[in-house]
Amino acid sequence: MRIARTATAIVIGVDAHIVEVEAHLADGLVGMSITGLADTAVNEARDRVRSAIVCTGYPWPQRRITVGLSPAWLPKFGSGLDLAMALAVLAADDRFDASLLERTVVVGELRLDGRVSPARGVLPIAMAAARWGYNSMIVPRANVAEAALVPGLEVVGVGSLGHALRLIGVDCEAGDEGMDAQPREELKPAAKDLSEVRGQHAAKFALEVAAAGGHHIALLGAPGVGKTLLAERLPSILPPLDIEAALEVTAVQSVLHEGTAGLQTIAPFASPHHGASAAAIVGGGRSNPRVGLITAAHRGVLFLDEAPEFQSSVLEALRQPLESGYVAIARSEFAVVLPARFQLVIAANPCPCGQAFDRRGRCSCTPIQRRKYLAKLSGPLMDRIDVRVIVETPAPHEVALGAEFAGESSATVAARVVAARERQRARWSGTPWRLNAEVPGPVLRRDWPLPSHVTRRFNEQLMEKDQPSARGVDRMLRLAWTCADLAGRAAPDEQDLAIAMRLRDAGGRWAA
Ligand SMILES: [Zn+2]
Repeated sequence: MRIARTATAIVIGVDAHIVEVEAHLADGLVGMSITGLADTAVNEARDRVRSAIVCTGYPWPQRRITVGLSPAWLPKFGSGLDLAMALAVLAADDRFDASLLERTVVVGELRLDGRVSPARGVLPIAMAAARWGYNSMIVPRANVAEAALVPGLEVVGVGSLGHALRLIGVDCEAGDEGMDAQPREELKPAAKDLSEVRGQHAAKFALEVAAAGGHHIALLGAPGVGKTLLAERLPSILPPLDIEAALEVTAVQSVLHEGTAGLQTIAPFASPHHGASAAAIVGGGRSNPRVGLITAAHRGVLFLDEAPEFQSSVLEALRQPLESGYVAIARSEFAVVLPARFQLVIAANPCPCGQAFDRRGRCSCTPIQRRKYLAKLSGPLMDRIDVRVIVETPAPHEVALGAEFAGESSATVAARVVAARERQRARWSGTPWRLNAEVPGPVLRRDWPLPSHVTRRFNEQLMEKDQPSARGVDRMLRLAWTCADLAGRAAPDEQDLAIAMRLRDAGGRWAA
């Protein structure tokens, strides 16, 4: 009996796991069996491996072939194991010495003619390979750039099984070398700049505060006033991702798309439709757990437009990731943890008809309809949203011809955001927190008390409120610190507290 081993990997969620492939050739009934795969996948993999080997010019070994995939407990999803299986079979058939691939992870789906298709999840696989002490990888040619993001790995791109054999040093004429990947366009979003949003000074300031302190934000306003325009521009005023975050974001992109356009350094933006299912948004579903849009928004922005129109179950499902920064999906055989640390932006019309703020009284909703509409958002979800802002209809002079591009650019605002974040980093160094939005209220009150002359006026105004809650006050306090950080002050003053109260309460017009 002859045995040869190769290594490959599978991706579950956004994490890769190394899989050992072992091919045995023995006397007996001619055929191929694969252990450690689901039934339907076995048949398909067997057909692809056999056809690819034959098309590459090698005779199919007239032996009893057994291919084992281990560890056995790991569910083997996808088709990226093909190339490693084909190479193991050829090595077991003495076509080359398997020790040539000893410290190499091989990834790629084979087509019937032996060509190698681009794969998903190559970056997480490369990260796992480096972690497990492998020093080289053979990947589909289109995936070379993303695998090469991991330092210390020698990465070889192949276009076909024959090409892979030639690179190992085996004499093989068949099989083309493939083409380098075209960079994917959609990952370079057209620059959306804050200066394109006319007017909306209060809302732009609220967005800046949200960006600086990492606060979740809700935008309330009539249809067409520019809520989406504002939300889409939040990534443009967020700081560029640091290397750790950039690799995490690129790894998610690598799982979601075939072939990435290099390291992603801009905060991602995901905007699910309100009709989307909980599995599409949060992740999960049957068989291989699907990566949801909140994971696509990891380290970036999740925008829920027309938030009251989302299913209650979807809004409910956001609570746990908002709290923990990840989604946990449990299966009988394994558990998957998907990263989901995002900044939430929700937009809502003030009522079902959208005209509740109209000064000419065009709203056709009853008071009960209005209350019920926003009440869908109230409770635990709204509890996590620090900033609530009314987006007003722009004034005529702000939309008049000639008023275009009059506002500050995203770069100008982003510079203030970066400076404010530096102040937070210094203040919270040595704590588990980096941003004001993460700091628990009791800690803020106890360890960073404000002088009584600053708090007096704030407390007076608070007394005038209907039902001030401790948590609401904590949120205002956090916002006041962010306002102070933006203004370059060492601590909030009366003015910062007053602004924070307005940012939280939206002039009392947010009924929820
Ligand atoms: Zn209405």
